[in-house]
Amino acid sequence: MKVAVFSTKFYDRQFLTDANHDDHELVFYETPLNPASAALANGYAAVCIFVNDDASADTLKILAAGGTRLIALRCTGFNNVDLNVAAELGIQVVRVTVYSPYSVAEHAVALLQCLNRKIHRAYNRTRDNNFALDGLMGVDLHDRTIGIIGTGKIGQIFAKIMTHGFGCKLLGYDLYPNPQFESDLGGKYVTLPELFSQSDVISLHCPLTSDNHYLINQAAIAQMKPGVMVINTSRGGLVDTEAVIAGLRSKQIGALGLDVYEQESELFFEDLSSEIMQDDVIERLLSFPNVIMTGHQAFFTQEAIGTISQTTLASITEFAQGKPLSNEIKPLEKAPAIAS
Ligand code: NAD
Repeated sequence: MKVAVFSTKFYDRQFLTDANHDDHELVFYETPLNPASAALANGYAAVCIFVNDDASADTLKILAAGGTRLIALRCTGFNNVDLNVAAELGIQVVRVTVYSPYSVAEHAVALLQCLNRKIHRAYNRTRDNNFALDGLMGVDLHDRTIGIIGTGKIGQIFAKIMTHGFGCKLLGYDLYPNPQFESDLGGKYVTLPELFSQSDVISLHCPLTSDNHYLINQAAIAQMKPGVMVINTSRGGLVDTEAVIAGLRSKQIGALGLDVYEQESELFFEDLSSEIMQDDVIERLLSFPNVIMTGHQAFFTQEAIGTISQTTLASITEFAQGKPLSNEIKPLEKAPAIAS
């Protein structure tokens, strides 16, 4: 099967080629998929895309006219695909339901401890032969309260690390509570206001939906403990960036770790170090000493990329062989409209 693979970097090409075993004809494009680039997939039955590709209605119509019948997402989230329009056009959509949840949970822990123990600042100082400790004091995590929003695959692993590894107390909020969070990990489900007001650290592990856009907004921040740490490795749209900037300025937010950013599609995965940054909001964010941002790299481990590549190609093979698609996303799953 001919597959047009968009938004590829050298590592995508390497892992997908290794997993392919020459079963399919993979044509790699560095460009993202959007209405302007969709014509590149003309004549390709399958298109393979990533988190910031644009599979909205306009793109899908061009793909369908060119003969595309399958979109294979190399990720879990699918908020960038208009599932209803895809179904109307006869395009099936598959995703990678599970790939190392450890990758994201462990990255959230890395951001948390880096911020707490000021590793990012110490790294720069010691390179300048500055071994002073002023401003580097952290706190013991033992006995601190961690609020986890979304206790699914990633949230549960994050919870396990925080309680078994650091001895933290766990509070959880989830639309569909998982009994193991309480029975196995000693966590306690609470309401969102309770989680906001009682947590020393709040970490987001839920999908972005139409109901929770800007979950972390001015009103939520006002309910939090002064000096709270907020970690977001889920989706940028969960956080109102202007509100967290105000929270950082007032010191209501004591530290912020972000792997995702609401305007990331225009920035992330590219080397813009020689460009003039046009996004004033991200510039402001990155000016705070107590903010660490990584560019949507939480998933980026050898294990995760290997599994993503294998699952994606297995889905394409199922489609080529006319088999039921194990990882198909149906429009009904889109109940929360922005979904991930
Ligand atoms: P999952 O489906 O296993 O768990 C998500 C949990 O969130 C579920 O328990 C669900 O009930 C809960 N939930 C759904 N809507 C909610 C809401 N409005 N409020 C609270 N809880 C809600 O998903 P997962 O594999 O644990 O992934 C979680 C999120 O992590 C994904 O949705 C994605 O946005 C993000 N993610 C980020 C990266 C990265 O590289 N930064 C990689 C993979 C996933």
